[in-house]
Amino acid sequence: MNYYSLNNIAPNTTFETAVIKGLAPDKGLYFPENITALDPSFFDTIETLSNEEIAYEAIKQFISPEIPEAVLKTIVSETLNFDFPVVKLTDSISTLELFHGPTMAFKDVGARFMARCLGYFNKNNSNEVTVLVATSGDTGGAVANGFLGVRGVRVVILYPSGKVSNIQEKQLTTLGQNITALEVEGTFDDCQDMVKKAFLDEELTSKMQLTSANSINVARWLPQMFYFMFAYKQLKNKYKDIVFSVPSGNFGNVCAGMIAQKLGLPIKHFIASNNDNNVVTRYLKSTNYEPKPSVQTVSNAMDVGNPSNFIRIQAIYDNDFNTLKSNLSSFSFTDKETKEALEEIYQTTGYVADPHGAVGYLGSKSYLTTNKEAHCVFLETAHPTKFLDVVESVIDIDIPLPEQIKAVIDKTKVATAVNNYTEFKAFLTQL
Ligand SMILES: *Cc1c(COP(=O)(O)O)cnc(C)c1O
Repeated sequence: MNYYSLNNIAPNTTFETAVIKGLAPDKGLYFPENITALDPSFFDTIETLSNEEIAYEAIKQFISPEIPEAVLKTIVSETLNFDFPVVKLTDSISTLELFHGPTMAFKDVGARFMARCLGYFNKNNSNEVTVLVATSGDTGGAVANGFLGVRGVRVVILYPSGKVSNIQEKQLTTLGQNITALEVEGTFDDCQDMVKKAFLDEELTSKMQLTSANSINVARWLPQMFYFMFAYKQLKNKYKDIVFSVPSGNFGNVCAGMIAQKLGLPIKHFIASNNDNNVVTRYLKSTNYEPKPSVQTVSNAMDVGNPSNFIRIQAIYDNDFNTLKSNLSSFSFTDKETKEALEEIYQTTGYVADPHGAVGYLGSKSYLTTNKEAHCVFLETAHPTKFLDVVESVIDIDIPLPEQIKAVIDKTKVATAVNNYTEFKAFLTQL
């Protein structure tokens, strides 16, 4: 599959180059040249297939022929060695648990998939690739874990000091080897800006091969389409109108769901559930797309002021506002509402959600008020333990620490303080 730049200036390129470069030379995001729907029989019989078979069929057109079939099958099965259960909460709401991977957030799948693709492309390459990642919390841990020990790949993670949870910080600062964490005095947007600046800095890019493992990278972004298929497989015989409520920050996850729908997955509608960083909620109301600086919330992985994948969503709908609006609703919720929802979910169903899932739950409820026949599935994008302080402040229980968390909680943080682009560049130059 070839990819084109959404800025339409850079030449089209292969999957391999799109993964290695991250962003096109004209600074546009890469997008597949074409998307061919799968045979309807695939979805009719999806419950007879394993997750690995589903994922392989779904992704292969985007990757072949650059990664041979057998290698791609191995990459897929190594990526997906954990469960994706749907848990029913009420007659009209279920949750899809995406937190059973090594860092307990949904980004594990994209990070593991991308790491293995890059490892494959690098196997005969003596030049190191440096992966730069700005994280609002979960990406850093998932990428650090996914890329740990991958040959020829060095990972540099920037995170906003004091704005990620304690467990998130441990997950991205304690691995060592080819992983380095930089602690930035600032916000996630500051981290993201520094990464973007580095990609545009010819003095740097002439010396080192930089790439991104944020969802702008096609190998991080596309595998997220699997979730929606795994959920459909579990729900297709129970409900007719399946609607996904996706807690959204950079909008990579919901955008990948829309690709699954393009492939023919029978999804009725999407809900982008936002916290106070609600540029898309406002856009769908007003038709004005007005990014604002991010504000800090209790669902910090969604604290994104200007979602990088929104341009891909617009490409999917040929930039037509009304078509997009007929397939996507968006609601936004305050921290107070999010905490009340955590409590409500627990009191009414016994389920302990995390703050991101709680925002997804609220989006489901808002949608259901006018669409009573739908069955809403909100994505539980992280395990509640990752946001213990918030969860335990509203629900009076002790959540036992999962094994994945126990493994990092007592390790010593190693991070280098970086306060501005000059310091960041100096750090990269001496690597
Ligand atoms: C990254 C993340 C999100 C937002 O996903 P996007 O693809 O950026 O919209 C939501 N919840 C959690 C827990 C995350 O880590």
